[in-house]
Amino acid sequence: MKQPTIAIIGGGIVGLATAYRLMERMPGATITVLEKENRVAAHQTGRNSGVIHSGLYYRPGSLKATCCREGKWELIRFCEAEGIPYELCGKVIVAVEEAERPRLQALYERGQQNGVACTLIGPERLRELEPHAHGVAAIHVPEAGIVSYRAVAERLRAKLEAAGHRVVLGAPVTRIVPDGRGVVLETPVGAFRADVAVGCAGLYADRIARMDGLEPGVRILPFRGEYYELRPERRHLCRNLIYPVPDPAYPFLGVHFTRMIDGRVECGPSAVLAFAREGYRLTDVRLSELLEMLSYRGFWQLARRHWRKGVQELLQSLSKRYYLRQARRLIPEVTPEDFLPAPSGVRAQAVDPEGRLVDDFLVLESPRMVHVVNAPSPAATSSFRIGALVAERVQARFD
Ligand SMILES: Cc1cc2nc3c(=O)[nH]c(=O)nc-3n(C[C@H](O)[C@H](O)[C@H](O)COP(=O)(O)OP(=O)(O)OC[C@H]3O[C@@H](n4cnc5c(N)ncnc54)[C@H](O)[C@@H]3O)c2cc1C
Repeated sequence: MKQPTIAIIGGGIVGLATAYRLMERMPGATITVLEKENRVAAHQTGRNSGVIHSGLYYRPGSLKATCCREGKWELIRFCEAEGIPYELCGKVIVAVEEAERPRLQALYERGQQNGVACTLIGPERLRELEPHAHGVAAIHVPEAGIVSYRAVAERLRAKLEAAGHRVVLGAPVTRIVPDGRGVVLETPVGAFRADVAVGCAGLYADRIARMDGLEPGVRILPFRGEYYELRPERRHLCRNLIYPVPDPAYPFLGVHFTRMIDGRVECGPSAVLAFAREGYRLTDVRLSELLEMLSYRGFWQLARRHWRKGVQELLQSLSKRYYLRQARRLIPEVTPEDFLPAPSGVRAQAVDPEGRLVDDFLVLESPRMVHVVNAPSPAATSSFRIGALVAERVQARFD
């Protein structure tokens, strides 16, 4: 019998983990990952906070809640088996003023509903865990951790290639053409035929869906997250992970302090609308992408709903002093001199025509493809579970 051929668009952690789960599920299949850059993990996967989330924040029963809780352990098992450094160092979510207490309590209850081990703690215990953090109360989440998602992605690539599958770099998919019951994916380095293809293109996920003739009903809007890094002499100000109580109106978790697995301590990210999907600097503008954004009803609805928050985030991006004000709520001792610039990341966030940020992961199917359309945080933590869900859907097509 002919061997099934499967192609995956996107060499981020979701695409690679999907390929890996497919390799396990369908040992007879030939898998090709097509990545437009000349390395894997070039975008969100290689530019994030490196946090292994516990699954506390998410709506019980949502894909985010279940995939994060289960995916975290799948990720950890992979790291253990492959000798990839990770640490379950724990984190604190801090209410810095009395007014935040009810939201902290609600978050704690959500954590309980999601089956995440966590405890409500007072200022003394907070001082023991994070001597430089300031707060009136906090949630301690011992199961949260840190890892390099770039290292995980690179290992996945190596495992796929060692098993005879292909990860083709420098291969942007520019056209998707139906071919019998399968598809041909056209790239400048050749055309690749597959019986089934999977879209895992992050910031371009909606474009890939449209190339396949599927209207996903949402657009990806890019939200840049700027980071600073603490000077090495000031790294002691944050032992592990210090987070604020998030604003429930947004899927972003707020500016936090993160110890990275390589020992650096980062502070960030902000969440500013970018003028290009891969716009890592404020001055990065791609006219076609900007016009596309401005012509989208969902963008204007979003602006109407959230302009205040947008202005606040922009100020944070323009002014280190303003940024510092947010950071100082968590660690009052930090000064502008402690902050060194660090690389930024851009989040891919699906927005519907009413301007609502799509909260959950979104996977859609067309006759020839499966599309991961919305995979924002905690999709890196959840990647092995998302990969398993997608692999199941792909395999069902061959059955
Ligand atoms: C600032 C920031 C902080 C975050 N922090 C965390 C965190 O601490 N923990 C966590 O779990 N998650 C975090 N996330 C979210 C997490 O990084 C993403 O959810 C995850 O990396 C998504 O992976 P992906 O593979 O879908 O996307 P990506 O990593 O963006 O990969 C998509 C790939 O598709 C490729 N591609 C696009 N178009 C094409 C094309 N036409 N042809 C071929 N290839 C194409 C791109 O080059 C890219 O490599 C964060 C994200 C950001 C931006």
